[in-house]
Amino acid sequence: MMKLLIAGNWKMNLSVTDTEAMLSELKNKTRSDDVDSLIIPPFTSLDAARKLLDGTGIALGAQNLSHEDDGAFTGEISADMLLDLGVSHVLVGHSERREYQKETDALLNLKVKKAVAKGLIPILCVGEKKADRDSGEHESVVGNQLKKGLEGVHTTDIIVAYEPTWAIGTGDVCKPDDAQAMAAFIKGELKDLLGTDAVRVLYGGSVKPSNVKELMAQPSIDGALVGGASLKADDFAALINLG
Ligand code: PGA
Repeated sequence: MMKLLIAGNWKMNLSVTDTEAMLSELKNKTRSDDVDSLIIPPFTSLDAARKLLDGTGIALGAQNLSHEDDGAFTGEISADMLLDLGVSHVLVGHSERREYQKETDALLNLKVKKAVAKGLIPILCVGEKKADRDSGEHESVVGNQLKKGLEGVHTTDIIVAYEPTWAIGTGDVCKPDDAQAMAAFIKGELKDLLGTDAVRVLYGGSVKPSNVKELMAQPSIDGALVGGASLKADDFAALINLG
């Protein structure tokens, strides 16, 4: 079993002032060294977060990157800009970006490849909608997202996050058995696509201190991608301590 990774995706929350308050508090909380941890704040907080996380062992991630290197792409952020800010991980294809920014699997594949080429670890997010699960299509939907998102990728320096969209921000957490079954399915697909399943698979969707332990005990789940419960220092410290 791989070392667990608890990643906090702040989404469009916490100003620089809020970031400084949250991370100053988090620094003073006891955290287990048995678990790796990662904070993924909005772009505007990356610099402040980098300074506060220095020496804590907590890594820094970004929520998105451009597939381009530089140039006339107003509003975009490049891999080099992220590296310059001490970022090591980057989310690719969070379901909110797939839905609201209409990001396609083809675009996400370019982003994964750009991240890998630049030495950032992409966290490719996959997951089915409620209707897909109800109709029994969840594995084929996720399998397809993986196949297209990882086309031409030949490295194990990636992470996959399984986040069923119906469990995100809803409090409607995926049953541990179902999350385990999907994580095992994803590892099987990764073996076919990359020749190995030595890749971390995270679960995300309404993870909180009260359910993290049971989810993280599943043999194919190597960590959690957490939204709402990652915004407060107490909660995030509790997640790292597995409840
Ligand atoms: P949630 O979000 O923990 O608030 O459900 C998870 C995510 O979107 O990464």
